Amino acid sequence: MIHINENYLKLQASYLFSDIARRVAAHQEAHPEETLIKLGIGDVTRGLPRACVDALHKAVDEMAGDATFRGYGPEQGYPFLREKIAAGDFGSRNADISPDEIFISDGAKCDTGNIQEIFAADIRVALPDPVYPVYLDTNVMAGRTGAFEDGRYGGLVYLESLPENGFIPEPPSEPVDLIYLCFPNNPTGAGISRDALKTWVDYARENKALILFDAAYEAFIRDDAMPRSIFEIEGARDVAIEFRSFSKTAGFTGTRCAFTVIPKSCTAYDRSGAAHSLHALWNRRHSTKFNGVAYPVQRAAEAVYSPEGKAEVRERIDYYMENATLIRREMTDLGYTCVGGKNSPYIWIEGKTDAWSFFDRLLKAGVVCTPGTGFGKCGEGFIRISAFNSHENVRAAMDRIRTALQ
Ligand SMILES: *Cc1c(COP(=O)(O)O)cnc(C)c1O
Repeated sequence: MIHINENYLKLQASYLFSDIARRVAAHQEAHPEETLIKLGIGDVTRGLPRACVDALHKAVDEMAGDATFRGYGPEQGYPFLREKIAAGDFGSRNADISPDEIFISDGAKCDTGNIQEIFAADIRVALPDPVYPVYLDTNVMAGRTGAFEDGRYGGLVYLESLPENGFIPEPPSEPVDLIYLCFPNNPTGAGISRDALKTWVDYARENKALILFDAAYEAFIRDDAMPRSIFEIEGARDVAIEFRSFSKTAGFTGTRCAFTVIPKSCTAYDRSGAAHSLHALWNRRHSTKFNGVAYPVQRAAEAVYSPEGKAEVRERIDYYMENATLIRREMTDLGYTCVGGKNSPYIWIEGKTDAWSFFDRLLKAGVVCTPGTGFGKCGEGFIRISAFNSHENVRAAMDRIRTALQ
């Protein structure tokens, strides 16, 4: 008899987006003349940079000629892209990362989800609350948790991000083996200081633990003192893996290109205590189960590092950050406590009421946000507003919110 992986039965159905959709549909039916403004989704709205589109076109033409055609490429990605990344994202920040420590992929979602298969099933996992759901659900699927009770899975260590700790959790008092961190954070928008990140690196070194650092929103950092990569922190090369993506940076959410950085000195241990290279393990996994990102897409990603590409990416980030600044200022003026929006496109707002009631108040005003409870227990009482939209829509949304909440 064919049996299922029963860990899947522990997964909580995500009612978040269907609940939002249901409430939005009911509102639209009652107010058919009204156009809702959506500031809920975590997807970009601006088109691809011209430099990327030109590179894409050129590469597609190359694919048409026998002499320039490319078939299977290296699973880890083409050297032309890995070299640009190593120099542009790490060398420029004095982070010592070589091109062959970079694995090109089709998304940071897949990478953050897949990476856990190279670790034992009985490790202790610590992850943030509120959380990007991928980290949590993939560990449930792998059987690293108990049942779901009272809003949480058994067996996990939840790193609470709350006003009391400025939304930056400290290392737990008990030892854990695998730690997920995401900065600038989705959903809270909080950024981490060099010192706070150093505390985590030190904890990982002392406990022979590993940090999975998701830096998908690195491009939104405005504060020059803030680390853009965990590899800017001394000692991190031995205890951290970093995930990056062109999705939010350069608008690749529908084009698909990302990368994972695993330093060659990064280790994990077998039962006898012997150290093993995680770079070697992931290289084996990646080349066995993945066949590389499309050549034209890698050329488009390479164009992000050209002078034109850099300027166009900066212009887009500035555009979204102008929205973020406006949202944060307006909500603060209205008397709400906000985090995020300074080094991230998300603003996390304390609603002075439960998350869904606040969501409903904004919906009544014609604006869709995301209730914090969709990201975990610590999201109760909060909503997330996203800066991914046009200036016109964000200005109109803030006018509506001001009228409704004043
Ligand atoms: C959007 C996002 C990503 C990027 O995912 P892709 O699969 O590369 O599009 C990764 N991590 C977080 C926290 C995100 O919000």
